[in-house]
Amino acid sequence: MFGVGKAEINSALELELTGRPIASLGAKPELVAANRWWLEPHFLQDGDSWSLNFRTWILRIDGKVVVIDPCNGNGRPHMMPMFDMLDIPFLERFEATGVRVEDVDYVVCTHMHHDHCGWNTMLRDGSWVPTFPNARYLFVQREYQRWHPDKAGDFRQVPYNDGVYERSIAPVVQAGLADLVLDNHRVTPSLCIEPGRGHTDGHCMLRLRSEGEEAMFSGDAFHHPLQLIDHSIAFGDHDDWDAVVETRRRLVRYSLEREMLIIPAHLPFPHAGRVRKSERGLSFEALQY
Ligand SMILES: [Zn+2]
Repeated sequence: MFGVGKAEINSALELELTGRPIASLGAKPELVAANRWWLEPHFLQDGDSWSLNFRTWILRIDGKVVVIDPCNGNGRPHMMPMFDMLDIPFLERFEATGVRVEDVDYVVCTHMHHDHCGWNTMLRDGSWVPTFPNARYLFVQREYQRWHPDKAGDFRQVPYNDGVYERSIAPVVQAGLADLVLDNHRVTPSLCIEPGRGHTDGHCMLRLRSEGEEAMFSGDAFHHPLQLIDHSIAFGDHDDWDAVVETRRRLVRYSLEREMLIIPAHLPFPHAGRVRKSERGLSFEALQY
């Protein structure tokens, strides 16, 4: 757990993919070599590998509990074996943080890829029902439209996201727990949804400001901090590449100007950090706690 101003920030891990060759990121070997001094030990491991976490953020702020990006969920078929029919004690891990599913006031998905909205729902007696029965689920309207079956012809097809709307989004709407919001929506006095478009058409981020400190939950605006140093490293799938680059530029600028902490969805420990500038160039300084 760590804090930003008065906010308490906790998380629950679902999956960890370790030992991925750094070459799979698509970064040039010279770039990796030039940044090794700050990449190690967290973002470059055992010399030449990196890892991804699938992690849900649990935030206490302004007397509310906010869940951000509830991972993949159990019992769902998926074309990629590592996500297929998961059976993980995720809710036990979640509640080990001291927050019960009934305590959650808001659920926000930065976007509606399978690994960011799975635990919106769970299977009960053969039906998908909301996991957080007392929460309002804040769905960004633009992102909701992007995945709505009626709009399927307007967007590129993403086979790895098949069935996600039906299992993880529609049941929440049917249960009356969903609020469609704009991507400049204030969740609590200290927490705002803001646009972070590109990775998906309606991808958003969440900005936290408390007692002079600032943090941004950046979802999948990037997957590895080298992508903040060299915006051209694509890794990952994107609806709008130009918007991805613009979002990354904005994150770097805010972090440098205001010491803003960046908290993405998939970083290994310590899961967050700040962009720094020195005579050695830009770097991503891992949060210490
Ligand atoms: Zn993701």
